[in-house]
Order: sequence, then C-alpha cells, then structure tokens
Amino acid sequence: APTYKDKIVGVFGLARTGIAAVDALAASGAHVLAWDDTVERRDQVGSFAKDLYRADFTGMSALMLAPGVPLTHPKPHALVEKAKAAGVPLISDFDIFQAARESLPAHRTVAITGTNGKSTTTALIGHMVASCGLPVAIGGNIGRGVLSLDPLEEGGVYVLEMSSFQLGLTQNFQADVAILLNLTPDHLDRHGDMAGYTAAKKRLFDMQAKGAAAIVGQDDAATTDMAAALAAPIVRIASTNEMPGGVYVADGKLVDDTGGDQKIVGDLTSLPTMKGAHNWQNAAAAYAAGRALGLAARDIFEAFKSFPGLAHRQELIGEVDGVRYVNDSKATNVDAASRALASYRSIRWIVGGRPKDKSFAGLLPFVGSVKTAYLLGEAADALVHDLGETIPYVDCRDMADAVQKAAADAEPGDVVLLSPACTAFDQFTDFEARGEAFRLAVHALMQGDAK
Ligand code: ADP
Repeated sequence: APTYKDKIVGVFGLARTGIAAVDALAASGAHVLAWDDTVERRDQVGSFAKDLYRADFTGMSALMLAPGVPLTHPKPHALVEKAKAAGVPLISDFDIFQAARESLPAHRTVAITGTNGKSTTTALIGHMVASCGLPVAIGGNIGRGVLSLDPLEEGGVYVLEMSSFQLGLTQNFQADVAILLNLTPDHLDRHGDMAGYTAAKKRLFDMQAKGAAAIVGQDDAATTDMAAALAAPIVRIASTNEMPGGVYVADGKLVDDTGGDQKIVGDLTSLPTMKGAHNWQNAAAAYAAGRALGLAARDIFEAFKSFPGLAHRQELIGEVDGVRYVNDSKATNVDAASRALASYRSIRWIVGGRPKDKSFAGLLPFVGSVKTAYLLGEAADALVHDLGETIPYVDCRDMADAVQKAAADAEPGDVVLLSPACTAFDQFTDFEARGEAFRLAVHALMQGDAK
C-alpha cells in the first residue's frame, strides 16, 4: 500500500470523516491541503486549509473526498475534473486506513457491502467476533468512521461497513474477508446505472490480496452474475435456494455445505432477531465470515442466539392488546420494505416519506398481507397511484396520527408496521428520528393501555 509520508494529499469535505483524515494524514507525515465550501468547517483545520479550487495539483499524490460530497454538484465536480486532468487519484478514508495498517498490531479486516442489510450484518459479525473472545472494532459506514476507531490489540478484527459511495472512491483497501450481500437498484442517482453501481461493489473483491476470503450472496441476479465474473474462489451464500458447496438456509436451518457434507449449523427460526429470509441472508454471510476467521461453527451459532438486533430494522417496540408494533424506519427503499411486508401476515402498514425509487410497483407482489396502508408525507399520491386499488388507504398528518389510526383499526394478531419504503427527509432529519417518533407514539399507546 502506498504510504502518504512526505506526500501532498488533498482532503475535500471537512465533516467528521474529512477531519479524521486530516488528522491521520498529518500524523503520518503527509502534507495536507484541506478544504470545504463552508467557512466554519475549514476553520477547524487551521493552517491545513488551502483553497483546492485554486491550488496547483501538480505533485499532489491523492485527493481524498469525504463520502458525503455530492460529486454531481458543479463545484466538487470541478475538483474531480481538475484531479483527473492532473492525474491525481481520488481516494477514500479506507485508503488512508490501509496505508496505516502496516504499523498496527497483527489484525484482520472484514468488509461488508450490499444494497440492504449492511448495518445489520456488520453489527452481527461484530457481536459474533466479540462473543468468540477476539478484540473487535466496528465502524466504517456505521457508527465511527474507519479512521476514528480505537486501534486493536494483536489478533483483533476490524468489522467495517462500506457503502458503494466509499467503495467507488477507494483505490486500495484489502479486506481479509469481503462480503457482498445483495444488489438491487438503489443509489442510481450517484452511479448512473446498475452497471456503474455493480462495478463499484465489485471493486471490493478486485482489491483483495491473493488468498483472502470472498463471500457473495446469490439471492438476486446481479450478485449471481458478479460471482460468476470473479476470478478468485468465493463462498456462495443463499437464503432462498439451496447452494451446493456454499452456505444456505433450508427450512429455516442454516446449512454449511462448504465441505460437501450439508452440515446443519442450527435452526434460525428459533432466534428472535433472525426473522425473515433477509436476516437469514445476513446470518449466512456472518457465519461464512466467522468460518473464514477460524471461528468454530458452534461458537458462531451461540453468538447468533444472543444478538440483540439493531434499532429501526424490523425492531419490535411492544405489544398492545394483542397487536405488535414494529419499527422498520430504516427501510428507505422498495426492496427493504418488501422484505418487511414478506415477514408478517396481517399488516397495518405505515408507509411514505420522500420517494427514492422511481416507482413503488415493486411492492405489488408483497401487499397481499396488508390490511390497510396509512400514508405519510410526499409519497402519498405516488403510492396510491402505483399500488392501485389493491389496498385501502388512510391519509395521515404525521407519525402520531398514523400510529393512532392504525391502532384504532388493528385487531389482535395484526402487526402495525412502520416500513416507509422512502427516506425520512420530508418530515424528519433522518430515519432514526422517524423511528423515534414511531417509538414515542407506541409508548404513548402502551401507557394509555396501562391506565
Ligand atoms: P443497510 O445498512 O444496508 O442500509 P440495514 O441493516 O440498516 O441495511 O437494513 C436496512 C433495511 O433493510 C431494514 O429495513 C432491514 O429490515 C432490511 N434488511 C436487512 N437485511 C436485509 C437483507 N439482507 N436484504 C434485504 N433487506 C434487508
């Protein structure tokens, strides 16, 4: 890996990731030129501040772009063009981490990417590694950035979520275990088309060292194609079909056929936080990663039993009068919401927000279990249009209104499910705030129930 010592490195975008990069680069002896369009942000970096729009790029070794920088916006786009013209490679914080790895105690890295399930799988693997007694740090696109993680003692494992944005900017990050869960149309605004999006994800494997472990989901067409295109040996994982020679789930049981002996690892249906085929995919990926790290099958499954699950991902908030309330606020696209709809039988569905997919028609095969849809936000008209007369709709003012209306209609055995299939940005700062609004509204019901 290149070292940045004595090299000139630009950093653009000075939020948390950018600041961490400036610190790490400066500590490694690089000459840092840091810039942001916001004055307050550039003030944080003191004498490293340098107007990159005017700077001379000759002699610059790399330009790090923070993951949140909108590349299509004319200003950063001009910087990208300038870097290209000068032959300066764009890099991410993962490149800077890679450069620093030589000086870390012996360790391994697990990188997780995919359209959906990244955070859940990252958390699950982190929990698994910790339960098996190894030092662990969890970060990247979840929680703390990769450069802000505390260094691990010898034998530690860095479990890192990577978004396609980060991957697209990363030149050289060598995951010891690389995982691609699934690939469905999302973030196409950034990558142009499915081919660009797929190419960004493939980089994770292309960058790996020889002999490293590669784990690829096989539940959708794009990842199946990708697995076929990869040169190095891979472990195929599947949640919906048997996968000879791989790791898969059959009748809810996790099966390891990597030795050709269809070994049953355990029954996933007995685990409270592993419900639904999508979680089986995550579990299969985590299991394969655990095996690649040398963990025992039995220890891995024991760890699954105690996995607490993540907030806002099909999170059970509570039960009132025989009705369960499930917070799936993180379902910001059609694919994720369809997973939730497929997980329950009799659903009062709180849906809507700011649409991300071009159409909601992809949900049509899944609305059979929906009794009523409670509509939120900007997507309301499009939802009714795309899903047609298949379900009754109720317009709602806000989250509290939606929860109250759904609760009033719900019968024992129903699930009131917030799974918006949209981003939260029309009404909330983010999906977490939306999930918290749901939680509050449900807690209010529960308190009313207790009186
Ligand atoms: P990401 O970090 O990739 O956005 P999360 O783990 O936060 O993924 O989950 C996002 C949404 O996708 C949640 O609604 C969750 O229930 C759903 N989900 C989780 N795992 C998967 C999977 N393997 N495939 C499809 N959807 C999933």
